Amino acid sequence: MTSLDIDAGVAGGPALPQERRLVTAIPGPRSQELLARKAAAVAAGVGHTAPIAAVAAGGGVVTDADGNSLIDLGSGIAVTSVGNAHPKVVEAVQRQAAAFTHTCFMVSPYEGYVAVAEALNRLTPGDFEKKSALFNSGAEAVENAVKIARKATERQAVVAFDHAYHGRTNLTMALTAKSMPYKSGFGPFASEVYRAPMSYPYRDGLTGPEAAAKAISVIEKQVGADNLAAVIIEPIQGEGGFIVPAEGFLPAISAWCTANGVILIADEVQSGFARTGAMFASEHFGIVPDMVTTAKGIAGGLPLAAVTGRAEIMDAAHVGGLGGTYGGNPIACAAALASIEVFETEDLSDRAREIEALMLARLETMQASDPRIGDIRGLGAMIAIELVDPATKAPAAALAGAIAQRCIADGVIVLTCGTYGNVLRFLPPLTIGDALLSEGLDVVAAALAAEVAA
Ligand SMILES: *Cc1c(COP(=O)(O)O)cnc(C)c1O
Repeated sequence: MTSLDIDAGVAGGPALPQERRLVTAIPGPRSQELLARKAAAVAAGVGHTAPIAAVAAGGGVVTDADGNSLIDLGSGIAVTSVGNAHPKVVEAVQRQAAAFTHTCFMVSPYEGYVAVAEALNRLTPGDFEKKSALFNSGAEAVENAVKIARKATERQAVVAFDHAYHGRTNLTMALTAKSMPYKSGFGPFASEVYRAPMSYPYRDGLTGPEAAAKAISVIEKQVGADNLAAVIIEPIQGEGGFIVPAEGFLPAISAWCTANGVILIADEVQSGFARTGAMFASEHFGIVPDMVTTAKGIAGGLPLAAVTGRAEIMDAAHVGGLGGTYGGNPIACAAALASIEVFETEDLSDRAREIEALMLARLETMQASDPRIGDIRGLGAMIAIELVDPATKAPAAALAGAIAQRCIADGVIVLTCGTYGNVLRFLPPLTIGDALLSEGLDVVAAALAAEVAA
């Protein structure tokens, strides 16, 4: 099925015209007012990409307080995959908020939490018995996955990869690779975290098995399998630059983990929930992780995260060892159940593959006449271009930043990422229409043409 004409009004929500409309310069006067209040009231460390005051969003657009309507190619960082304020999510949230807003699942359990756990156990890769636990953020899910893996294996070390991003809490900063802006000045970091080289086909020139052998050698020499509780990896890296590992890399890492009693954790916080054209990105690579962490796309914008894994691993933690006051909040669970229903009944994995076809065709056309586009990569509605100096392949971070800013000024929200800051990533809501998506890419093409080579 196609979602060509979906907008926020389909099932009764306020209809938002699915159009790019600029009635002021960005930022307009009302947005400037809010940004001035933000600068005075909000800690400087909390940055922003688009200088607007958002007032509504749905389908494929975000509107601001000045009456501008921007095409959304970011989904609030891969969160609003079912579409912002999806009517089914709104309805579920309203119904649940009117019934009860909180009991604390550890005090008085409720069905929504259990139903989300059942859905995750069913949907995540692997046909073995699974269990889940719910949390509030991706970072919290990663922290808990590591806690559980350590308890289950009675080992302490954890291996993460170059270019990895796993969050901003102390343990997840340690797991994250990039210093600026995520870690710089915020140490000391958690111990027993080690880093292995990642497969990065555009830059390392290695096949998947070669890159895996290199990573495994580092792990065996610097950590030792006997000390290693878990290997955590994003099947497609998010903040690190939408790096898709070469074929055979993930299966080799997975096989090594299995042979050595090491738990493989797939961090699918960004790549999960139909984003890549499958419910989980692991499926594309034929791996079945022991544990999966999820968040972002899970609940249509409500804060929710989960760890799902083999039942015997998940049950290793003692009663009372896992939890949190808000973890699996009933309103977030209601939103997740509504979102999961939308993912399945509207076949959004299929829609993500349609978006992939449209985006790849457009980006390949741009690349044919613009060698600054060094690489096009990604799957589904998780696609990126890496911008480089065509002569040397040196990362062109300033160019990526300038293009993103130009796009936003022209009414298209585009995000950058990458260890070198030179990647433009496209994460449209899966409810965006083809015409709007195409227009968004027109604006990207125009921005590329307007920026002279650095
Ligand atoms: C965003 C992200 C996280 C952290 O999630 P938060 O909800 O921001 O804490 C962890 N892992 C990956 C792969 C992510 O993309």
